[in-house]
Amino acid sequence: MTEATPIETFEVTCPHCKRPFEAQLMDGAAARHRGFKCPRCRLFIPYERASGHTAEAKAS
Ligand SMILES: [Zn+2]
Repeated sequence: MTEATPIETFEVTCPHCKRPFEAQLMDGAAARHRGFKCPRCRLFIPYERASGHTAEAKAS
């Protein structure tokens, strides 16, 4: 099985500017680097803080 992994996007609400946006999860080497980058304020949002754990993966 060598199929490409489908890209998951999450709906995230930025805790800094309170704006919702869609983003792909950045999967870093360390767990603390897993998260999203807000396109508006460009701040990093840890996965843990991105709308709790209710972020839904959207099949596109
Ligand atoms: Zn933001």
